[in-house]
Amino acid sequence: MPEAIDALFVPFYSNIDRWHNDSGRDFEYPSLSRTRATLEALSDDLFMKDEVDLVMDGKLYDFSRFLSWVRHDTTAEYERYEPFTLTLLAGTYYLSLLPRYGFSVRIANAVNRERLEDLGRRYDPRFILLSTTLLFDAAERESVPLAIRQLRRQWPDAVIVLGGLMLVSYEKNLPRPYFLDQLRNYGADAYVVSPRGETPLLEILRRGSFEALLADPSIPCTYLLSGGDVIEPPRTPEKPLEMRDSYVRWSQLPQTDHLYHTVHMRTARSCAFQCAFCEYPVNQGPLTLMPVETVDRELSELQSLGKVRSLIFTDDTFNVPLGRFKELLKVLAKYEFEWYSFYRPQYADQDTAKWMKEAHCKAVFAGLESADDQVLKNMNKVAKVDQYKRGIEQLKKQGIHVHANFIVGFPGETEESAEKIVHFLDEMEIPFCTVCTWVYIPSTPIGERAREFGIEGMGIEWKHNTMDSRQAQNLARRIVAEQKYSVHNAVRGEAWSEFLLYANGFSVDDVSLAVSTFNRFLGRDVDENEIRSSAEYAALRATLDRHPMPRPGE
Ligand code: SF4
Repeated sequence: MPEAIDALFVPFYSNIDRWHNDSGRDFEYPSLSRTRATLEALSDDLFMKDEVDLVMDGKLYDFSRFLSWVRHDTTAEYERYEPFTLTLLAGTYYLSLLPRYGFSVRIANAVNRERLEDLGRRYDPRFILLSTTLLFDAAERESVPLAIRQLRRQWPDAVIVLGGLMLVSYEKNLPRPYFLDQLRNYGADAYVVSPRGETPLLEILRRGSFEALLADPSIPCTYLLSGGDVIEPPRTPEKPLEMRDSYVRWSQLPQTDHLYHTVHMRTARSCAFQCAFCEYPVNQGPLTLMPVETVDRELSELQSLGKVRSLIFTDDTFNVPLGRFKELLKVLAKYEFEWYSFYRPQYADQDTAKWMKEAHCKAVFAGLESADDQVLKNMNKVAKVDQYKRGIEQLKKQGIHVHANFIVGFPGETEESAEKIVHFLDEMEIPFCTVCTWVYIPSTPIGERAREFGIEGMGIEWKHNTMDSRQAQNLARRIVAEQKYSVHNAVRGEAWSEFLLYANGFSVDDVSLAVSTFNRFLGRDVDENEIRSSAEYAALRATLDRHPMPRPGE
């Protein structure tokens, strides 16, 4: 008999039929159609992002399936290499929070249609809580409705609740009728549209049924969908939980079989900065910090489980405020956890970098965004290129690996300013980078200066006084091709895919080999034998053999 529970939390649902699968189970949705679309898109500059998938003999492989194929001769082991199957923050957070309010909850960390049957045998939930934060709906419009249809087929009587940051962004940026249409199209029963969402979610569970929700649709930030009509929430804001009360009680989790040896953790909400292209602090509100003693307690509980050895901090940005970061480093140095984080290198001095090393920092993601001081100023990055250089030098001296992110095409960008990225990467010898193009979201701070910069359009298609999105795409490609040192990593998960490999014992050269082998075959339909007979394939297979990676939950 499946276990009757109040809620099953799904932090990440993957539409596996986007790619080729050797699992032997029928495709519900032919992956070949996407393969064809991808091959056609390869000739169109606007679809550069689709080149993150490799096409082999007409079949589509993402990075994790490619590594699985190289190591195991089948894609069926892809979860070992998938950066979203490690222990995600949202699931563990709710697994810790909801039982304290009397609800039984279980987590299914990375769900896809092949796992549903097994989960159906294990759980009989009244509510299914699905997060959109990692669903990337903008890139794959069908992913949310498909996930909801598949979940509903498995649990037809459960109430499906959708939440997460993607909905918050859509509510702010889409014309109202279009946003409401989106909710209809998704097909969930309830939508919690809030960057936090804990108190609405608790109230939804307290009500216990969809009928009870409909009888009094007064929960803040909660839309209901009934008979094709969207019932909008009252305008009252939700009452957020205190940060100090919302840390994860690792030693009291009702379930630990979802724990991978690497877990996500956070010590703060929102961000201390207001970069002009970013909607994160706009949506999240003011920065709230977990007391350092609470972080210490959380780490101590985590250590007592004996299952976890690496941490990925999701705080943006982990090293600001600087004084608190130094306190955190003292705490982290007491433990053996290796860790990774988002990081602002302009604040790295000799001492801080040394303490980071002593506190077991392995690698960081640095959102540098530009190598031009004027563009950095337009972006409100509060940083100068020379400061970046000094900080990165300090990190390199300590052997801390850097993944640098750049955005091409922000208002004020010119060909000349963008080309500086090439020289920056060559000079700094940064092992990994991602060069992407600016995406215009009107609710970000730059939206208030749209007239000044002549911004038109939205999303990935825009133009302004000094560039348009097509020029930016071409420039981004050229920068990637011209720079000589860095491995361009635009695979799904980007820096997280590197962190996952490091956490499994890969050296920076091993990770570099994995990503550059994948990159080498992008952009055309490759014959399997061409890959198998390449020197890179043999080297990568030997590397993967040396570092067997567990399946999540093993
Ligand atoms: S880009 Fe990062 S540092 Fe800048 S505002 Fe957004 S979250 Fe904060």
